[in-house]
Amino acid sequence: MKVAVFSTKPYDRQFLTQANQQHNHELKFLSPSLDVQTVTLATGFEAVCVFVNDRLDRKIMETLSQQGIELIALRCAGYNKVDLNAAQELGIKVVRVPAYSPYAVAEHAIALILTLNRKIHRAYYRVREGNFALNGLLGFDLHGRTVGIIGTGKIGQITGQILHGFGCKILAYDLNPNQEFAAQYGEYVALPELLAQSDIISLHCPLTKDTHYLINDETVKLMKPGVMLVNTSRGGLIDTKAVIKGLKSEQIGYLALDVYERESKMFFEDLSGEIIQDDLFERLLTFPNVIITGHQAFFTVDALNNIAETTLANITAIALNQPCPNQLSHDD
Ligand code: NAD
Repeated sequence: MKVAVFSTKPYDRQFLTQANQQHNHELKFLSPSLDVQTVTLATGFEAVCVFVNDRLDRKIMETLSQQGIELIALRCAGYNKVDLNAAQELGIKVVRVPAYSPYAVAEHAIALILTLNRKIHRAYYRVREGNFALNGLLGFDLHGRTVGIIGTGKIGQITGQILHGFGCKILAYDLNPNQEFAAQYGEYVALPELLAQSDIISLHCPLTKDTHYLINDETVKLMKPGVMLVNTSRGGLIDTKAVIKGLKSEQIGYLALDVYERESKMFFEDLSGEIIQDDLFERLLTFPNVIITGHQAFFTVDALNNIAETTLANITAIALNQPCPNQLSHDD
């Protein structure tokens, strides 16, 4: 298939080119992300291949359809940016990579928890400046602490398993509780109970209309004072203004983010020479107990290999009119 591959960085090109040796699709790597301004770049192609922050609303989908696009291949699991009803109506197929390395994301959540707790982000700079004072670096034992996992799918379960190994008590909340997980690692409780009892809360549910701003003024109030909140899922799960209020009142004692509700304007780009215009984001950076990474939880060699291989296998299956288990329907 002739595929316009949007939002590509050197690492995407490397892994996709390598995986394409088995498939021989005609890949055109494009740096820009897909939006109303760039959609015309897909003219003359049969498929577009996109990443987490590319826009696939109805308007863009209609333009893609007029340009003859038959397939949208997501190089990610989350599909919250895709209007699946519009895709269905326009006859555009949508495929994704449902799992590429849940370990990559779970392990990054653990890295954030350990960094925040033991203040590694501050200790690193202190030692380099010859400051060996320990004031302000006090942490706590994870052993014996209660961790709330919201969303116990592939990533949430692994996060829970790892933290169980640290000796944490695991509380879980999910619309579809997994009894095998509960039997071995934790206990499902209602959301208010999880919020009230957890020392650490880690978000692993998808962004949907029901989970948008799951963390808001009301739910922050239900949390244990001094709680650690970790989001490696999607930025829109958190109302940033509410967590800033929570940080200022010290209801939230620690915040780790790999995702941010307005990340699409900034993440994955080098803006180090520019003035960041997002005041909410800049406010978050002023707190010593906040750590932010730029949507890198997925970023391991293993995950990039899996993403590239699954994406190309998905495109091949559609090209050959074969059933593709990773195809989304408008009910998803
Ligand atoms: P998954 O589909 O395996 O699990 C999601 C779980 O959330 C399911 O068990 C589902 O029942 C549950 N859920 C759905 N709606 C819910 C709700 N309203 N309340 C509570 N639970 C709910 O997904 P996964 O592979 O574990 O991924 C989880 C999320 O991680 C993805 O949706 C994606 O947004 C995010 N993600 C982030 C990165 C990153 O690099 N930061 C990478 C991959 C995935």
